[in-house]
Amino acid sequence: MTLSFSDLHLDKQLTTALIAAGYETPTPVQMESIPAVLNNQDLMVSAQTGSGKTAAFLLPTLQKLLKRSEKSGKGPRALVLTPTRELAQQVEKNAQIYGKNMPWLRTVTLVGGTAFGQQIRALSRPIDLIVATPGRLMDHMRQGRIDFSRLEVLILDEADRMLDMGFIDDIETIVAATPAERQTLLFSATWDGMVGKLAQKLTQQPQKIDIAREEKQGKIDEQLLYCDDIRHKNRLLDHILRDTSIDQAVIFTATKAMSEQLADELYEKGFSANCLHGDMPQGWRNRTLMDLRKGRIKILVATDVAARGIDVPTITHVINYDLPKQAEDYVHRIGRTGRAGRTGLAITFAEVNEYIKVHKIERYLNRKLPEQTIPGMEPTRKRSGKIANKGRRSFGNHSKSGSRRQNGDLQPNRTRQNNPANRQRSNQQNRRNSNSQPKS
Ligand code: AMP
Repeated sequence: MTLSFSDLHLDKQLTTALIAAGYETPTPVQMESIPAVLNNQDLMVSAQTGSGKTAAFLLPTLQKLLKRSEKSGKGPRALVLTPTRELAQQVEKNAQIYGKNMPWLRTVTLVGGTAFGQQIRALSRPIDLIVATPGRLMDHMRQGRIDFSRLEVLILDEADRMLDMGFIDDIETIVAATPAERQTLLFSATWDGMVGKLAQKLTQQPQKIDIAREEKQGKIDEQLLYCDDIRHKNRLLDHILRDTSIDQAVIFTATKAMSEQLADELYEKGFSANCLHGDMPQGWRNRTLMDLRKGRIKILVATDVAARGIDVPTITHVINYDLPKQAEDYVHRIGRTGRAGRTGLAITFAEVNEYIKVHKIERYLNRKLPEQTIPGMEPTRKRSGKIANKGRRSFGNHSKSGSRRQNGDLQPNRTRQNNPANRQRSNQQNRRNSNSQPKS
């Protein structure tokens, strides 16, 4: 029997908003989490992006906000902490969609890289929901702008990721400022290690919900392509990008410099490409994501942190130009495609001497990545276990005026001035934000 949202005892104000948003039935993580949250349970939920986890915590939280607070004051009644600015903005956007019939609902996103003014103004009035990255929230807390005495629900989204990014101290300080009788909802891909210990500390008799990856996620086909060297990799990339089935693609690189360089090179080759990384000012990051959403960018070259939270259903391809540093990032990266139940293709390049890194990912996934070759473009070098890769070093050292690689197929650096996006980016580089968030 398929449950509907009203079977979950959600208020009509929410269910009508869900119908308007095109949601017909709850996803598994929503089916399990919503009743538990309404029943005041603390939660530890393992669910991936794409499972519908955001609605799983927002819907019952908003339902709680429908009842008047028993406490006076103007502080937030619910707080969502996220690792990245993009994810925070996405969560607030969803709250506004689900809360569309709650015109009194006041929400604010507190993230770095944006001006304080608007955030301070929002905090000077009564606020219902704050969605924040830990660094900027702490900035406001230090200035005494946030009173948590009314806080009812605390949510940590992608808790494992926040810890990976070094936010443990900030999180502990923030949590210590919230009332002990709050409800705590934790979402994380894993509970291994530090995040498990944190969960124990923060929750009281939590209900554990474990949702397998596939659920709301569409089908993602995967391919592993070995290449001899960077030249070979660039030839493969060029070949793949000319595939007409690509609607939009996200290409992941290991460094910010490389994301800029590759975006420049692709732009020069005639692709509508741009980059997204953590050193770009927030306004520019937002515009880039908007361009992606509106289809004005076909290829986004991104780093891991910057790309988290990207939810654009028309992304048909994810290309791992560089292997992820952490095996679990592989899962997050490929989850940028196959959104909203569609199919996607995730292609991973590995140089033949990166064999061991591939093994690490396969061990994490507990399965082999399907290896493929493109006829006529097969690697010729033999695989070795060595990780060292002299050829690639020069990319990490790339600087604006520095030398470009000479051995690749993609063209030399003539593009920065040609690409209007890059011109603005260059101008803004000197004004890098001083946000305390880790950069990727
Ligand atoms: P999330 O895992 O929260 O990032 O959600 C993944 C995507 O699924 C987002 O585009 C949501 O808007 C969408 N979504 C979430 N729940 C549902 C639902 N019950 N029905 C249809 N789409 C949904």
